[in-house]
Amino acid sequence: RAASPYASHAVASVWEEHGWTGHAKGTTMMVAAMIDKFGSPELKEQVLKPILAGETVCSLGYSEPGSGSDVFAAQTKATPDGNGWRIDGTKMFTSGANLADYVIMLCRTNPDVAKHKGLTMFILPLKAEGITVQPVHTFQDERTNITFYDGVKVPDTWRLGEVDGGVKTMSAALELEHRGGGFSKAHHAMIKAAEVLAREIQFEGRPLIEDRGAQGRLARARAHVAISEMLGLRALWGAEEQQNLPAAGPMAKLFSSEKFLEDGSDLLDLTAPLSLSKREGAALFVNQSYRHAHGTTIYAGTSEVHRSMIAERALGLPRSRG
Ligand SMILES: Cc1cc2nc3c(=O)[nH]c(=O)nc-3n(C[C@H](O)[C@H](O)[C@H](O)COP(=O)(O)OP(=O)(O)OC[C@H]3O[C@@H](n4cnc5c(N)ncnc54)[C@H](O)[C@@H]3O)c2cc1C
Repeated sequence: RAASPYASHAVASVWEEHGWTGHAKGTTMMVAAMIDKFGSPELKEQVLKPILAGETVCSLGYSEPGSGSDVFAAQTKATPDGNGWRIDGTKMFTSGANLADYVIMLCRTNPDVAKHKGLTMFILPLKAEGITVQPVHTFQDERTNITFYDGVKVPDTWRLGEVDGGVKTMSAALELEHRGGGFSKAHHAMIKAAEVLAREIQFEGRPLIEDRGAQGRLARARAHVAISEMLGLRALWGAEEQQNLPAAGPMAKLFSSEKFLEDGSDLLDLTAPLSLSKREGAALFVNQSYRHAHGTTIYAGTSEVHRSMIAERALGLPRSRG
């Protein structure tokens, strides 16, 4: 909890070793940073404190059925209601909402102005009356959710930032999300599982691992992990030391997710048919990693959106998104 971002990054290898997911930690710490920056004293007392005590987790309610990449097109309504607000709408892909206590929400508070202008952010307790969480099962075996908000009441003190100032608040949230991080740990774990299979599979009368071609494919994947690690560290360092590297996070995320997927496909092929059998252990792990890798190129901003960000921030090309 009091660990520096560097220490937190370093400990990720231990999490990988134990097979723990870092998802809840990542989303919760993003919400914590947002409350710290924009939250009222009440919100800090009631939500930030338990987060920092490690007692609660949070999820992200940005995407909707009609808006994902174009997050500022959110339609979930927040209307003034007494001393607070009433929330109505639907959020898509609210991952972890079935386990979390709170969700950070991007809502429309003014439908009569340009889409970027009438947005406001809130924190909602997921146990509040009027919230329904329904599972959405993905082909990567990751459960996410669709969440419905039907007349949910929230006090004004649970607002983050200014009314209709959601662009500023959300931009800060996206900045945190686009800091990189990457998927090198999951990628590395997949290679280790593929290596186990390559020792078991026989190819031309000897273990596949002894084949030069197989060695090359495993080594290439391992080299990608090393580059992902370096890009992730560079993004972390750039953000922590305020080095003005605005494309470093997107570069880390783009490279890491795309290479995870590319190597996932290659190692699934290398270790087939075992990798297709879904046999418990290494075979299932390679198979599951390949499916997991697809999601990494979509959530926290798709690869296309990240390419756009790199083009704008590092190459100075004109903005292509609305
Ligand atoms: C497993 C999973 C978990 C997720 N978890 C969460 C979560 O916890 N909270 C949350 O809020 N969201 C979450 N998401 C949503 C995720 O952030 C969105 O799926 C993502 O932003 C893409 O939005 P979309 O699905 O609406 O696709 P769209 O935005 O409709 O994109 C469709 C296609 O068009 C491309 N495209 C869109 N705009 C542009 C552009 N300007 N330039 C070039 N290409 C473009 C995209 O790259 C994509 O290929 C999750 C998604 C998945 C798959």
